[in-house]
Amino acid sequence: MVQRFYRRGAVMPGNKSEVGAIKLSALDTWRGAYHPDIAAIDIGATNIRGVVLSKEGKLSQVARSPIDSGVDSADFVKLVADFAQYLEHWNSPGGHQPSLLVVALPGIVDEKRQELIGSANLPWSDLNWVPKLSQLLMVQVRITHDVRAALRAEVETGFLNGCSQGIAVSIGTGIGAGIVTDGRVLFGEGYAGEIGHINVGSDRECSCGAIGCLETVSSGPAISARYAEGTGKAGLEATEIAKRADAGDCVASEVWKQATDALALGLQASCSVLGTERVVLSGGLALAGQRLLEPLTQALERSLSFHKVPEIRISKYGDLATLHGAILEGLLLNQ
Ligand SMILES: [Zn+2]
Repeated sequence: MVQRFYRRGAVMPGNKSEVGAIKLSALDTWRGAYHPDIAAIDIGATNIRGVVLSKEGKLSQVARSPIDSGVDSADFVKLVADFAQYLEHWNSPGGHQPSLLVVALPGIVDEKRQELIGSANLPWSDLNWVPKLSQLLMVQVRITHDVRAALRAEVETGFLNGCSQGIAVSIGTGIGAGIVTDGRVLFGEGYAGEIGHINVGSDRECSCGAIGCLETVSSGPAISARYAEGTGKAGLEATEIAKRADAGDCVASEVWKQATDALALGLQASCSVLGTERVVLSGGLALAGQRLLEPLTQALERSLSFHKVPEIRISKYGDLATLHGAILEGLLLNQ
């Protein structure tokens, strides 16, 4: 099955810089010790990524594979199982395989009950595939919410460490937030943190069925689609459009301004409710770095009056915060 991935060219090992971004420096100091054999998989709307923490405490390279949007539920379970077995260290020379697989998912995930309640951005309908995956792989499988996994990385070893009121915002195909309030992670039975579906006044229909959601303006696909409408150039990454905005492209500038202004609106609503002190940004859009941070910070500062003005940073984990947090979650479970 590994060969099948190779033949299809679907799986590409992560490059060195990605591995560098998820180095164990933070895990190394985290509560003192490694625990062996934990794998983490981050399932997005368009691709799947994974790493394994080996028995020796070595983190594998990040592997990734695109997901065919036409895949049905049964094939999807097989695809995830095949992908897991492809991961470096899955079967180490000593014959070990991970004892625990943590799968991070977008959507409504109730971690306490271990239930996927629903997801607007996933290409299958069977929500009960985790037991099947566990059976196929013969390992314990645990699901977690992708953004709350990223939040865990920030709380344990990142910008939100020691923070009482913080938000970790992931911006990619969807937009979601992990929330810390009074020093505790807010779960809301899986429903907390859906800032991507705050109405920011857009006239477009969202993947959730509502009109006007933040995701229709500021998600990666929304930015790409809006730029294509203005220029006829389809399929560009949002980070490329940010670069073009910087270089003086008028359409790119307008699209990027709409996106960052709408994000500021979403954050303003969250900060007003929660008294947020720190915001950390991850996901594909966070790779835009200062091009995202500066206009967003300025727009948010303009929109706040008597409120606390939060400090905003780009996550040190870039778009790998979820994988990092999922490994940490596995470590916590094995304590
Ligand atoms: Zn929506």
